[in-house]
Amino acid sequence: ATPTSIMVGTGRAAEMGVLFRKGDALQMLQEAKVVALDKTGTLTQGRPELTDLVAAGGFDEDEVLRLVAALEAQSEHPIAEAITRAAVQKGLKSAEVTAFSSLTGYGVEATVDGQQVIVGADRLMKREGIDMGTLAQTGNALGLKGRTPLYAAIDGKIAAAIAVSDPIKPATPRAISALHGLGLNVAMITGDNQGTAHAIATELGIDIVVAEVLPEGKVAALEELRKRGKLAFVGDGINDAPALATADVGIAIGTGTDVAIEAADVVLMSGELTGVVNAFDISTRTMRNIR
Ligand code: ADP
Ligand code: MG
Repeated sequence: ATPTSIMVGTGRAAEMGVLFRKGDALQMLQEAKVVALDKTGTLTQGRPELTDLVAAGGFDEDEVLRLVAALEAQSEHPIAEAITRAAVQKGLKSAEVTAFSSLTGYGVEATVDGQQVIVGADRLMKREGIDMGTLAQTGNALGLKGRTPLYAAIDGKIAAAIAVSDPIKPATPRAISALHGLGLNVAMITGDNQGTAHAIATELGIDIVVAEVLPEGKVAALEELRKRGKLAFVGDGINDAPALATADVGIAIGTGTDVAIEAADVVLMSGELTGVVNAFDISTRTMRNIR
């Protein structure tokens, strides 16, 4: 493509709400074979709601929620916000939290009203040696419905299986089929549970699923996908910045965090994934000199 056609393409993209921050991204994008997408906040709204709380024998649902919500009030994770919102809606009293710690990619723990409370993924319970009993099956079943299963333990005993559900953005299904129409392999990368990730991928017709990836593992997961050909990655979060920088073309959702936007080659003005399809389309037209 000539410098003029690149300029024209960049301008046309901007009119459609797609900002190419570098000319080579416009040239490179149409060479991509795989497009990998972050799940939370990219394919989904990133604003989950609490859907389930099943207490273990001997534990009271509202009391577990009260302690867990007090703990989650210290965390900034979207899952934490869903849990605290639910407790506020139920009018549950607050609790005193000390010795809080956040275990990135696993969950959170603290002393709440004098009790040791742990909330997070099943891998956190395993790491802490908590026997999940029959609640393991309860959580797995919720995962297969596309909800994210979590577990709470109080003083070393399993207290509840909890689930949150994060709605898929309205334009996501359409965008995925359009990307398939362009001949791309579509992959999803997430720190979320395997069962949850596979349920959502099946619903959306996503080809490749990489789940239960720890934040520092996203880059390695992309390097693996890159063996299939040139790779575009779409993300929104702070933890997506290294992946956005690693991909051949990093695409950030404009409604995402500043850190992600800084690290990207392409920025989508809208929060919907239709912009990804437009970006591919403009790249192809520019390189083939189609007007
Ligand atoms: P993602 O951005 O893909 O959701 P994260 O690394 O942020 O990945 O989280 C991975 C998993 O760790 C979550 O699905 C959840 O199971 C657990 N987790 C992380 N933070 C919390 C939290 N504050 N409360 C409960 N679980 C959490
Ligand atoms: Mg995200």
